[in-house]
Amino acid sequence: MDNDLSAYTGKPRPNYERMLVDIEAGRVDAVISYHQDRLTRRPIEFEQFVELCQRAGLDRFATVTSDISFGNDDGMFTARILAAVAANESARKAKRVKRSIQQKAERGLPNGGAVRPFGYEADRITVREPEAELIRQTVARFLARESMSSIVQWFRSQDVPTVNGGEWRTVTIRQIITNPRIAGWRVLNGEIVAEAIWPAVIDKATFERVQAEDARRKATGWRPARRHALSGMLRCGKCGAKLFSTSREQRRLYRCMKGLDHGAGCGGITISAAPVEEWITEAVLHRLDAPAMHAAMAGEPNDDVLHTALNDDQKRLTARSEELAQDWASGEISRAEWKAAREPLHRQIADIERQLAALASSRRLDGLAGQGEALRAQWAGLNLSRQSAIISAVLDYATIMPSPPSKFVNPDRIVATWRV
Ligand SMILES: [Zn+2]
Repeated sequence: MDNDLSAYTGKPRPNYERMLVDIEAGRVDAVISYHQDRLTRRPIEFEQFVELCQRAGLDRFATVTSDISFGNDDGMFTARILAAVAANESARKAKRVKRSIQQKAERGLPNGGAVRPFGYEADRITVREPEAELIRQTVARFLARESMSSIVQWFRSQDVPTVNGGEWRTVTIRQIITNPRIAGWRVLNGEIVAEAIWPAVIDKATFERVQAEDARRKATGWRPARRHALSGMLRCGKCGAKLFSTSREQRRLYRCMKGLDHGAGCGGITISAAPVEEWITEAVLHRLDAPAMHAAMAGEPNDDVLHTALNDDQKRLTARSEELAQDWASGEISRAEWKAAREPLHRQIADIERQLAALASSRRLDGLAGQGEALRAQWAGLNLSRQSAIISAVLDYATIMPSPPSKFVNPDRIVATWRV
């Protein structure tokens, strides 16, 4: 018994193989098959079977429709024709099935399968709203650059089972949010082939951003672990270097570091971690609910146009810069000419990159703007990666000014540079 393993596909059939071994070892007196095409579906396989039987001294093969004697020419003739017919039949059936799958896909109809897609009912068309809402929130978190492991933790805490009863893993969640199906696309063999008949859970533009972010994470070898909520977001008020977090005797600090491991700090600034984190968090949450935030969000629909335009400019300028380098390399222009032409180009490219980064950060606000109050209530329960993602959506960086004589953290020492 080799269930679900068609004799036609050529995939290994373990029990068939075992039967061949038994025949060869002389442990078999007769082979009984419902029909010849259940035994083999490829002529070459049938020939091998016959040869093996003859070597083992087995010459009778019985099916419900016919008894075949291998020793008899007529018997073999019939058997060979049956084998050829079976092969042809299988090929035709495979083609028919393939064509109907293709047609179904092109009409945007769902495919079959034992397990329903997350976010949809078993008909694969009706949206299962509580799950759809989870998908939307996951997408917002993903676009806000929250780490996958943090998203998984959050997912597990939601107490929603996976569709096959397994545990939530990063790969499960990544598959859900990078599947074009959730944007209402019908996919066949990894390609989008049609607009699906089922409703989308997220719009197509958002889905494109998910794909872009997914590609970016793959390309940059995304390392999510941030050990402190403000890592990378504080700068020294004396020298401008990034502050590092350190801890000494239970007390966490952010400080400007001098020395080989930490680059070019002056070592002149130290501040207690907890009060700065508290102050900045409070300011971020407050800002999320400020009217200015809604204004910032309201400007978003045109971002796509702007994004495309900036991308095009960036490509054009980069290409121009490469041309210049080639001109210099081939001796068409002097080194001085090359440098003179290159400088304004690089300034423009840097400017475009800055604008693109600003655009990306406004995307990070999806699902956050207006949520300051709600986030404040759950803040302590959020993990560091999530906290950090929320803060950096709003805060570009904060500069820590030198300490006045008082030892207390004075909010005047914190000068924030907001993204929005
Ligand atoms: Zn410094």
